[in-house]
Amino acid sequence: MCPQLSPDEKLASEESLKLYCRPIEWYNIIQHRAAKNPTFLQRCLDYMIEARRKKRIQLTVSLSRGTNTACREQNIFPLYVLLATPTSNISLEEHPPIYRFSRAYFLTSFGGFGSKDHTKATFVIPDIENLASSRASNLNIIIISRGQVGEDIGENNCTGGHLERSALQKLEGKCFWGNISINLLRLSLENHASTLNLGHTMKLTSTVEMRPSFLEKKFLEQDNCLTFCSHKVDATGSYKLQVGISAQEAGARDIRENPYSSYSYSDVPTPSLPRIVRLRAGNVHFNCKYYKNTMQKTEVTEDFACPFCFVKCGSYKGLGCHLNSSHDLFHFEFWISEERQAVDVSLKADAWRIELGPEGVDPIHQTFSY
Ligand SMILES: [Zn+2]
Repeated sequence: MCPQLSPDEKLASEESLKLYCRPIEWYNIIQHRAAKNPTFLQRCLDYMIEARRKKRIQLTVSLSRGTNTACREQNIFPLYVLLATPTSNISLEEHPPIYRFSRAYFLTSFGGFGSKDHTKATFVIPDIENLASSRASNLNIIIISRGQVGEDIGENNCTGGHLERSALQKLEGKCFWGNISINLLRLSLENHASTLNLGHTMKLTSTVEMRPSFLEKKFLEQDNCLTFCSHKVDATGSYKLQVGISAQEAGARDIRENPYSSYSYSDVPTPSLPRIVRLRAGNVHFNCKYYKNTMQKTEVTEDFACPFCFVKCGSYKGLGCHLNSSHDLFHFEFWISEERQAVDVSLKADAWRIELGPEGVDPIHQTFSY
């Protein structure tokens, strides 16, 4: 916005822009005073937003009828799916690892069959960057099938496919079980990191050998632990399951709801993608309108920061709340497009003249009315 101006008009437009100086100066004084003697502690809850947006990976486990044609449905289901970590503090040599689990689901049929059935288990694990270094690399997805040998304990003990802990204690006995190591999955996830970064879902299939075993009850009663003993059962009859796993990035969902965040990143090299995504997400264009709104001066802040007092507001919505409540000498209009999130700023001419008083008059000698 830069119309051709005559020298007089140019002078007038500069005078118009100067009108911003007094309210900005006013806010600087308030900020300076508040730094020395704050009337309240300015706390930004940015860290809570950061925690909510912390990247994680959501894994959804399901079985497809098409890839498991060799298995009879009644021999597989109900199927119990747990996310578990091998423990090192309890060890018995004759046993396979003792697993401690936090969450358990039960599946009653192949995926895509009727809304009444439980067909998938959903777990959230740390994001790829933290997966290798954290304890999460020891995680396993444990699959337990009672098949025809067990009664269905799930239906009355679950909420949305999520099993109650007490129900799992009834799992003791013969079963078939197999596991998928998250550490192995990590390699596939790393190869498709850019797919996940862009919010797409990645699908993969894992072959799991289901081995006959005996699930020990005593460990179920201690700290959500379980183990499998193969000595107590006939070791024959293993079979293979093709388990479908879909992975997608969890967290940061509210960032993507903003159309500005769907900005194309195709021109950004992959290594710098996370930094650029974060930077672009927090960039806000402030267009200060002047000279009868025919001209504007633009300033861009990062991390949703206020251009007047530099407070980081955590989100675009938070920035709106801050501007309207703390800087009401200005009028703000908020708009978002695919290219930017912006705030149009204009002077509330009448408001600040009344509030600040006429220029050149000492506020001490002014009469204030309440
Ligand atoms: Zn501010």
